[in-house]
Amino acid sequence: MASNSRQHDRRKELFKEIQRLADRAIFGTLSQTYRTCGNPKCRCRRGGPKHGPHLNVSYRSEGKTTGFYVPFDAQEKVRAGVDAWWRLQDCLRELAEMNKTTILEETRGEDE
Ligand SMILES: [Zn+2]
Repeated sequence: MASNSRQHDRRKELFKEIQRLADRAIFGTLSQTYRTCGNPKCRCRRGGPKHGPHLNVSYRSEGKTTGFYVPFDAQEKVRAGVDAWWRLQDCLRELAEMNKTTILEETRGEDE
């Protein structure tokens, strides 16, 4: 039964983590671009550093790829949100694996 109580603790931990992550998760893939601007006198047009990074989030919705530009002040939160989304998937997978194991163990032998 020791393993059951350990699993129980792990489930509680996962639920807490899932709630925390879900609260700030953002779905999508990050990409960064650096751009030149329209000002011919700007450093970016004279071999200097380009502007950026400009952060974009893209994702698929109803079969189409779509996305949005992330304003500079939101970059940190959006990065953390996308990271949270992927960590959420890991937590859900671990939980699903436990659910599967439990169901298979509970029903073991019932076909015989
Ligand atoms: Zn420029």
